[in-house]
Amino acid sequence: MKKDFKKRTKMVHGGVRRSHYGEVSEALFLTQGFVYDTAEAAEARFLKSGDDEFIYARYGNPTVAMFEDRIALLEGAQAAFATASGMAAVHGSLCSILKAGDHVVASRALFGSCLYVLEEVLTKFGVEVSFVDGLDLDHWEQALRPDTRLVFFETISNPTLEVIDTASVARLAHGVGAIVVVDNVFVTPVFSNAIQLGADVVIYSATKHIDGQGRLLGGVVLGTEEFITKTLEPFLKHTGGAMSAFNAWVMLKGMETIELRVRAQAETATKISQDLYGHSALNRMIYPGHVSHPQNKIVNEQLYGAGTVIALDLKGGQEAAFKFLNAIEVGVISNNLGDSKSIYTHPSTTTHQRVSDQQKKSLSITPGLIRFSVGLEDSEDLITDILQALE
Ligand SMILES: *Cc1c(COP(=O)(O)O)cnc(C)c1O
Repeated sequence: MKKDFKKRTKMVHGGVRRSHYGEVSEALFLTQGFVYDTAEAAEARFLKSGDDEFIYARYGNPTVAMFEDRIALLEGAQAAFATASGMAAVHGSLCSILKAGDHVVASRALFGSCLYVLEEVLTKFGVEVSFVDGLDLDHWEQALRPDTRLVFFETISNPTLEVIDTASVARLAHGVGAIVVVDNVFVTPVFSNAIQLGADVVIYSATKHIDGQGRLLGGVVLGTEEFITKTLEPFLKHTGGAMSAFNAWVMLKGMETIELRVRAQAETATKISQDLYGHSALNRMIYPGHVSHPQNKIVNEQLYGAGTVIALDLKGGQEAAFKFLNAIEVGVISNNLGDSKSIYTHPSTTTHQRVSDQQKKSLSITPGLIRFSVGLEDSEDLITDILQALE
């Protein structure tokens, strides 16, 4: 697809591989393998596969390739590799790049499973990991060393929505020759500008906004053609983190509406943030798109939007938070995000239950904190409901 079309056009038509039947909607190729006309053809394909030639679904599949091409168009990346989950994407990227003796610098405010991979998995294989306060550029500078091979952070952190200055961290990291890997879930691919800001590798859990309707797990890694084909693909192909054709087909259809969904959700989040700011039942209303957010300037300079998640810190701690959750009528109590249904989460007793009290304190995960993933419901219904629940 031609590069000069706008993103919304690319999301409808980009990446299509039409079969000889001329189907309008992308075909779902539910096949684990592919037939060769001759023994010579099989040999030739194993020797070198062309862009539209497949061998085995763990290596690639036409439906998965359509999804990969489409998301690469949205991100403005040269190439993409789809994975079974967001964590397969995180683990695959890190393990394909790193080896024993390498040093990694990562932001401290991370999704629990990302923290597990960095703290428990990588270190087991002889990788040294240093954690920093992602907001403090001096911390990054002090932690980076000549042997730092990789830098990892979540651009907008979960659940307190701190926004990292990607351009500055990338500049510092590149100064010591490190590869910059960002987990960009909370930014969403619609609002991402990560590659232009200096990220070398961009990761999404497709489970979130890409599916956007809470059906499936998936993930994707984006980067240069060279990185994806030479470094990432061999690792993931042989270690089994491939996305299934069915999941890729659902994600591919999700891409057709992702612009509309995410923009509508962010617009509602903006309205709600304005209505809730300064409410007497709240210690804090956190939304990166609100002028009161400490990194609002970075959001305006570096991102195309502030995301679809708001955090509310209720006065009255856990008791107030539970009362609020139990009073909510529009939306559900759950732990996904980016869904068309509004989802309310109490991080300190669920997603971050196992984080130590001291760490919760340092990450500002207070007992009164609610993470609110804004859905596609009518914004007035959501606001009215939140106000009655706060009462
Ligand atoms: C959900 C999430 C992941 C993991 O994705 P899965 O699809 O659940 O494996 C990683 N990072 C962030 C920031 C997430 O929100």
